[in-house]
This record gives sequence, C-alpha cells and structure tokens, in this order.
Amino acid sequence: MPALVSHPDEVKVVSRRFGMGAADIEKYIELDGYKAVQQAIAEGPDWIINQMKASGLRGRGGAGFPTGMKWSFVPKQAEKPKYVLVNGDESEPGTCKDHVIFLHDPHAVIEGTMIAGLAIGSKLGFIYLRGEYRYLLKVVEKAVADAYAKGFLGKNIFGTGVDFDVITQTGAGAYEVGEESALMESLEGKRGVPRIKPPFPAVVGLYGGPTVINNAETIANAPHILLMGGEAYAKLGSERNGGTRLFGISGHVERPGVYELPMGYNLKRAIYEVAGGIKDGKKLKAVVPGGSSCPVMLPEEIDVGLDFDQMGKAGTMLGSGGIVVLDETVSIVEFALRTIAFYQHESCGWCIPCREGTDWIKKTLTRVYNGGGNKKDVDNVQYLAENMLGRTFCPLGDAAAMPTIAFVKKFRKEFEDYIEGHKAGTPIITVEQLVGAH
Ligand code: SF4
Repeated sequence: MPALVSHPDEVKVVSRRFGMGAADIEKYIELDGYKAVQQAIAEGPDWIINQMKASGLRGRGGAGFPTGMKWSFVPKQAEKPKYVLVNGDESEPGTCKDHVIFLHDPHAVIEGTMIAGLAIGSKLGFIYLRGEYRYLLKVVEKAVADAYAKGFLGKNIFGTGVDFDVITQTGAGAYEVGEESALMESLEGKRGVPRIKPPFPAVVGLYGGPTVINNAETIANAPHILLMGGEAYAKLGSERNGGTRLFGISGHVERPGVYELPMGYNLKRAIYEVAGGIKDGKKLKAVVPGGSSCPVMLPEEIDVGLDFDQMGKAGTMLGSGGIVVLDETVSIVEFALRTIAFYQHESCGWCIPCREGTDWIKKTLTRVYNGGGNKKDVDNVQYLAENMLGRTFCPLGDAAAMPTIAFVKKFRKEFEDYIEGHKAGTPIITVEQLVGAH
C-alpha cells in the first residue's frame, strides 16, 4: 500500500482523518465521527439539502453535477422505496483517490450515505466497490458491522426512531459499471450495460425506485460539510466550485500520491511544487489532467486552475482528479495505443460507433506502432475518433474519442515522424504484449 503523502498547500477536509486509525469506529467517533448524521436527523431533509447546495459541492466522480441539486431532484413522495447508491467503482486509468477514503476513513462513506438517505427519505444505501478493490471490502464491511453493533445502523438509529441500512457490493471488473445506470444494472444482478435515459435515476433508479447515485468522495464530504457549514466549505474552493478535492498525481513526478487541494488550485504548482516536479530532472512532455478520458495538455497549457470550469475553458476536463504526468521519454504513439486498447477492451459493444470505432483505432495504431503505418493513418484515426464523439449511447464512446483526438492533434508530428522512422515488417511487440491484461 503506498505511503500517505502530504504538502503544506493541502487543505485537509475529506482526508483529515487519513493515517489516524479512523477505520476503527472508536477513533472515528473520537474525531467527530457520526456527529453530523445526528445533527442531520435533528434538523431534517430541507436543512441538509440547503447545506449541500450552499457548499457548492460538485460530483467528484468527474461529471461535476451540483450534489445538493441532485439530491433535491428526488421526489418527496414515491410509491417505491428510495435508495442511495455510492459509486466506488473507481476504474478510470490514472485515478486512485476513492480507495484511500475506503481504506483510511470508511465510516465517512457510511455516514455520508446515511446523510444522503435522510435528505431524500431513503432507508437503504448501497456501497458499490470496484471488483479490483475486493481487498477493501473487508475494511468497509467491518466498518458497517461496527456501526450496526453500536446502533448507528439498522432500526431506530441513535434511538431516534429512524431506520437506515447499508449493504456492500463489489463489481466484477468492468469499467463500464462506473456509469450510473450500468452500475444499477450490475447491482440488480444483470449485465452492467447502460440504461436508456430518461427516466433519470432520481425518478426511476435502482429496482425502479428513486435513487441518488454519488461518487464515494462526494458522499464522504457530506459529514464534513454539515459539521463546518455549507458556506464555510464553499469558501475553501473557487467560484462555482466549492471546497477541496483529492487529486491523485502519478507518473513521472518526484512525489506521486493523493493530495487534497482547494478547488481552483493551479495545475502547474500541483505538479512542480506539491508533487515535487518532474522525476530525475527530466523535461515535461504532457499531462493527462483528470483520468485517461481527458484530453492531454501540453506543458505550455498547464498554468490553469484545477476546477470544472477553468479546465473546461482550457479545452480539457477536471475529470476524476487523476493527474498523469508524462516526461520527455514517453512515446505518445505508444501512450495513445495503450489508452485506446483500454477503451476497446471495456466497450460493452452495444452501439456501433464505440464498438467499431475503438476497435479500428486500436487496429490502426497497432499497425502504426509495429512499423506498418502510413501518413493517412493519422487522418484516419482522427476521423474515426471525431465520428465517435457525441454519437454513442453512454459516455464511454466520448471517453475514448476525446483523448485520441487530442493525441493526434497535439502530437501529429510525433506520429508522422514515428511512421517515417519505423518501417513495416519488423513488429516491435503485439498489442496483447503491450497492454498486458487488456
Ligand atoms: Fe457500450 Fe460503448 Fe455504447 Fe457505452 S458507448 S453503450 S460502452 S458500446
């Protein structure tokens, strides 16, 4: 397990209990645990939603939708039971922040789930972990069992007459179930493919009942927001981007790790100051700023604030907070191939632009990588990716297309030089060898 990192510029909210033994319920209680949910019971749903709206918290999974508003969309009266679903299916390459929450502060996820349940009038929450995080299931399940033993979960929690249950579940290793409707299908025991929307989950969700689905970091923020107050949380961040965020900085930096920084913190400083700069004094070549689906940035483009709006204006995305730093030794041809190979493998195959587009891009880039490319291949890859964009059923198609377009646009000369310098007939490696399990 990687060691925890820290830097003086961090503002620790969701990470404030990391490394303090808070997976133990007694320690969690000592560190203000389960106070927020008791306050939430006392104050009621409208107060909770108003605090969440005031906080400016936007979904930390990547979409950035305002959390308070999402919770307010759930109808007050419903014929079917309502549910809270915690999306812990952290599968975006380069993203590694939810797992530290589950590991170091699982009760914050449980307490946040309860708060979301109280806000929407639900009595049951599910915590869904990605299949590869099965080793974390023990930690989360122990935390859930300890909360039941204390009377914090189950019937008549805290002696207040309120009931709330939590169930844990793991996936089977599919990236696609990170999409909210595919996650619900998976949880219901079906193949994890997306549903047609509308209806949206807030109205018709899990088992047909109104459902709030939030990323694990989003949910883990809820207790902190109620304790400090929504407005105080909002002030920690930038305009329209309240609070702080966990950023997983990986790749060629001196101090990789998960850091909690205020929303709007400068990306260049995050790389050069917080993460210690480029490893071994090498030059920066490119940055993938928020998980593999985000368009790559050039070194001259990274002097920008890390929030949803500023990153959007810079032509990329904040995404899932996974900042991947690439030094001058990285082959973008290889990196682009590895990226599309991932998405081609994870495509559920339902819609043609995604199924065929990812496959043809992978085939073309494999041929290029192995020395059989020609200059038209660069145009073809761009054409294929541009024709996937916005034409697929779920966001996976866009997630594959956007980085591909950015790679060929920003590094066209590297692709052309590679094609010129690597002649056919001498395969370097098969794509299966290159991408391993993918
Ligand atoms: Fe499946 Fe891809 Fe279509 Fe999403 S975009 S539904 S993953 S084929």
